[in-house]
Amino acid sequence: MENLELLYEGKAKKVFKTDRPDVYLVRYKDDATAGNGAKRGTIRGKGVVNNLVTNHLMRFLETKGIPTHLVEEVSDTETLVKKVQIVPLEVIVRNVAAGSLAKRLGMEEGTKLKTTVLEYCYKDDALGDPMVNEYHIAALGVATPEELRQIADYSMQINAALGEYLKTAGIELIDFKLEFGRDSEGKIILADEISPDTCRFWDVKTHAHLDKDLFRRDLGGEEEAYREVLHRLLGK
Ligand code: UDP
Repeated sequence: MENLELLYEGKAKKVFKTDRPDVYLVRYKDDATAGNGAKRGTIRGKGVVNNLVTNHLMRFLETKGIPTHLVEEVSDTETLVKKVQIVPLEVIVRNVAAGSLAKRLGMEEGTKLKTTVLEYCYKDDALGDPMVNEYHIAALGVATPEELRQIADYSMQINAALGEYLKTAGIELIDFKLEFGRDSEGKIILADEISPDTCRFWDVKTHAHLDKDLFRRDLGGEEEAYREVLHRLLGK
């Protein structure tokens, strides 16, 4: 898959054009950033883990009726995906207080939330991805109310399905971030990734972090933790 035209290089992935106008190739990198690019580094093997775990979870979600951008895994770090117009929102789903929510609301990390919390952040690096609500989203024209309702419905369904599935692997789904796009027909489908970079995964018993917080917080052991997630979910 060489000689493809690079379309976009993000913090953790490169996106290339392919000979199919409706299909892109995503290549996952080992590069890691945190705090909107303030901290940079490498997590060896991360690209492989995030690619394989994302595809595994998206295949699972497809069986639960969630449409995704996944077309075909072509190597350990590369996947063909449907071209979509990304809705510039980070949809954050939370089951347990952690990270920015714990800080903002003065809750101890690990406190179970009485109900699932949905948050939206407007994807704009220069603005630092500000949190927005339904009114801001409509006012900005980022998504129609119908699209946002679909996004929220899918996000809740994904949370229920993934939470139950991950528990069978001894992983508690604390919170995670989703991104959606519009396919060629304008339908909302799940895009981007679902990986230890974008989810908080805690070991069910020990509450050990199995995710990017190890890197963000300089706790160490991130390479092993990413490999552990791959092992628990795919047996590799
Ligand atoms: N998250 C993400 N990308 C972002 C911000 C958050 O994937 O740019 C994920 C993060 O991994 C966590 C969840 O969204 O699983 C909630 O993150 P939070 O708002 O607590 O932010 P953080 O504490 O990571 O700054």
